[in-house]
Amino acid sequence: MDLRPDEISAILKEQIAHYEPQLSMQDVGTVVSVGDGICHIYGLTDCMAGELLDCGGVYGMAQNLEEDLVGAVLLGTDQQVREGDTVRRTGRIVEVPAGEALLGRVVDALGRPIDGKGPVAADAHRPVECPAPGILERAPVRVPLQTGIKAIDSMVPIGRGQRELIIGDRQTGKTAICLDAIKNQAGTGVLCIYVAIGQKRSTVAQIAERLAADGALGRTIIVAATASEPAPLQYLAPYAGCAMGEYFMYRGRDVLIVYDDLSKHAVAYRALSLLLHRPPGREAYPGDVFYLHARLLERAANLKDGGSLTALPVIETQAGDVSAYIPTNVISITDGQIFLESERFNMGVRPAVNPGISVSRVGGSAQSKAMKEVSGTLKLVYSQYRELQAFAQFGSDLDADTRARLAQGERIVEVLKQPQNQPLPVEKQVVILYAVVHGLLEDVPVGRIADFQAGLFAHLDAAHRGLLDTIRETGKLDEVRQELTEVIKAFRGGFLRESKGGAAWRT
Ligand code: ATP
Ligand code: MG
Repeated sequence: MDLRPDEISAILKEQIAHYEPQLSMQDVGTVVSVGDGICHIYGLTDCMAGELLDCGGVYGMAQNLEEDLVGAVLLGTDQQVREGDTVRRTGRIVEVPAGEALLGRVVDALGRPIDGKGPVAADAHRPVECPAPGILERAPVRVPLQTGIKAIDSMVPIGRGQRELIIGDRQTGKTAICLDAIKNQAGTGVLCIYVAIGQKRSTVAQIAERLAADGALGRTIIVAATASEPAPLQYLAPYAGCAMGEYFMYRGRDVLIVYDDLSKHAVAYRALSLLLHRPPGREAYPGDVFYLHARLLERAANLKDGGSLTALPVIETQAGDVSAYIPTNVISITDGQIFLESERFNMGVRPAVNPGISVSRVGGSAQSKAMKEVSGTLKLVYSQYRELQAFAQFGSDLDADTRARLAQGERIVEVLKQPQNQPLPVEKQVVILYAVVHGLLEDVPVGRIADFQAGLFAHLDAAHRGLLDTIRETGKLDEVRQELTEVIKAFRGGFLRESKGGAAWRT
């Protein structure tokens, strides 16, 4: 084939016009200083906030973007990083693996398995920081998230997509409530994520064991950044857990996530910020500590197109002080709080929910009609009892009406007690609350209420399954009110006769 010179020059011109240099640019910097898990890097001009940096084998996350320097936190040990080392940008924001493969596993804040069960084959990766769903994508909370705990499902109900704070001093049963809630999701299709921040390794191991024993581990991911891990990992853990939850939420699944606890998270963030030389504010926390928790909890949502992420953040108070800095922040971010009191806990009223200042601002609309009916009366009668109780301490001869109300109140307190690890299905909760608010337990001695309850449930399971099924399926009491009252009365008759006869009552 002959080519004319002008054709050759046309081709050459064309090639020159479209020539693109095949250069690969790599942004590298140099470590200026390193220590306490923090390093300052010179020369990373285009670095993004939150970007993953490769500091010679150890990964870091860019936090402070200053004029010449980048302040980064190291997501591992700082022993291997030296001054003068080269740092490379990865061009990626820090991300974690997500997907079904993580269920049943214990992973660290970067999604690396730490349970010795081998590597995780993740379906996808998600950035740890992600904007929360917008207003138009959200739907109101409608579906209940049953915790199986009477005091909570009745008085401070939680709905799917809600954020409910669990707050109390140390050792008041905060973790126990979260684990019961996880256990109670059996058969509901709700996936669970438990994020342990700043806890002991042994505690996390116990929790994993307990979930496994309950058969709940298979639908749960445990994200652990224990007290022995560097502050940056403790800071990242809740966002990592949230990203794993979002993966399922955006695929239409319902997810429950527990952050245990955000007080330690705030402390880790304070340590990290002070080391990065950010100016300290109130109680030495940096100025953006509110935003730290707000942007995390805003990511919980009930999506219009299906899928939800329900968040149960935990906060530890000091001597019951809910007006401290971090507790007030998180109270104002969430849709309500469950306040646990040491005094109640030590008196044996467990779960130690304070019914006076515990609230749920949105969960009520997710309650079934039956539960709403009994809990409405319950809240009223119970609050009247608490008022009367304060004043009855001073009077000796009380009129019959007052005495009856006090007696009923004592029975309510007794009914709301619940051992750990025994969540109750909602229909049984409705039955026993129905009995106590309608005065059907007034002849039962306070000390025998627990026996009565166990006996009644066993009796219903054996002889009146249909009654329970109707309450659960219709969510209403209308059809069964009469029958339920009669069944409870009949059972009470037998129960009291046996008690009087001195026979030890057995279930
Ligand atoms: P920490 O502040 O140490 O995290 P916590 O507030 O999470 O404590 P838990 O660890 O849940 O409290 O519970 C403290 C103790 O109380 C545990 O030994 C637990 O078994 C017990 N406990 C919790 N809830 C109940 C309950 N409903 N009935 C009986 N015992 C309970
Ligand atoms: Mg705990």
